[in-house]
Amino acid sequence: MDYYTKTQLKNYNSFKTEALAKIFCQPTTIEELRKCLSDYPHEKKLIIGGGCNLFFTKDFDGLVIYPNIKGLREISDEEEEDEDIFLEVNASENWDEFVAYCVERGFVGLENLSLIPGTVGAAPIQNIGAYGAEVKDVIREVVAVDMETGETLSFSNAECEFGYRDSIFKRTNKYLILSVVFHLKRTFVYVPKYADLNKELEDIEEPSVQDVRDAVIRVRQRKLPDEKVLPNAGSFFKNPYITQEHADKIKAEYPDLPAFPYKDGLVKTSAAFLIDKAGYKGKRAGDIGTYPNQPLIIVNYGSADGNDIVRFMNEVQGAVKSIFGIELEPEVRIF
Ligand code: FAD
Ligand code: NAP
Repeated sequence: MDYYTKTQLKNYNSFKTEALAKIFCQPTTIEELRKCLSDYPHEKKLIIGGGCNLFFTKDFDGLVIYPNIKGLREISDEEEEDEDIFLEVNASENWDEFVAYCVERGFVGLENLSLIPGTVGAAPIQNIGAYGAEVKDVIREVVAVDMETGETLSFSNAECEFGYRDSIFKRTNKYLILSVVFHLKRTFVYVPKYADLNKELEDIEEPSVQDVRDAVIRVRQRKLPDEKVLPNAGSFFKNPYITQEHADKIKAEYPDLPAFPYKDGLVKTSAAFLIDKAGYKGKRAGDIGTYPNQPLIIVNYGSADGNDIVRFMNEVQGAVKSIFGIELEPEVRIF
């Protein structure tokens, strides 16, 4: 395995921001991965999967690890019944190819998460979610290396401490995920939840798992920008959770504010709605702006750099805060 210095990271993040990595390597086996951790014990480390949830505002002063460790195997389990299927998938497998593999075989549980760009290893980091499904619902175990000690650890679902776009891995930045063990099912019943998806499936009496995947892909392709054509990193901000009282106050002026009941008296509202009403739907400042079909996505129309993105982010946050009293928190990782 070679080490490269001053490596340009523009093609390793879907926002296409420029930055140099002090050291860069691409381990293709677990042994190589261990070697790069032990060769550079004192360097700051950053793992890049598909680079679809991060961007750079400055050079990275440390070791960037871009693993290419692939593989998938079905595993048997003593408790396994005909209904259950367990798969261990290595971190560098492409997420959507893995979803397609499962759906083709009738394995149930990942279909709502179709077409999310990136790798399998990054999926637990922010507990990826879409259309009411979260990857935590189908993860049995995550195998990871502690980057400080080199120890390989297995995290049960509970030990991953999953939350809304959150996990122990995201909070600590300490572990390099090697593989994820998924627990999928064979029986499928479509449960209507999200309006866009329900509408897309309304003519099918009993949608199959493949029907749902196809519908998710159609809806997403219509509404969301393809990061390979128009650089972006997906939803820029998390959806905020506010008190019912706060929601009622906003509703007095904006009666169509989405408010989905959560727990402890909180409701989830839509960051996209707030950005839209703050006047930022489709708004552009030079090469940076929000996507006209989905203002929660900030796009790079040309040569915007990471600092342009941060400036625009601050502007959107300021506008939403002053009108609604809500602090939008970025979902995208900023380096
Ligand atoms: P990266 O961007 O490479 O990394 C993300 C974070 O994970 C970084 O902190 C990185 O250091 C860390 N990381 C990556 N791999 C590993 C590893 N093996 N071990 C340890 N840490 C690691 N997200 C959703 O939740 N739902 C969506 O519906 C969704 N839609 C999107 C649509 C578009 C158009 C785009 C561009 C993004 C979307 N995203 C969505 C965000 C993104 O696709 C996910 O967060 C995805 O999991 C990122 O995968 P990645 O491999 O590109 O991760
Ligand atoms: P959408 O379906 O138009 O929904 C708009 C917002 O309302 C979303 O934020 C969604 O919350 C919420 N919502 C809608 N119906 C809901 C219900 N029945 N219960 C609870 N919340 C509901 O959203 P979209 O922009 O077209 O995206 C579709 C799905 O893909 C969403 O789940 C979204 O999270 C996901 N997505 C994520 C990213 C990312 O980068 N994270 C990018 C694109 C799309 P949730 O966001 O919590 O689902």
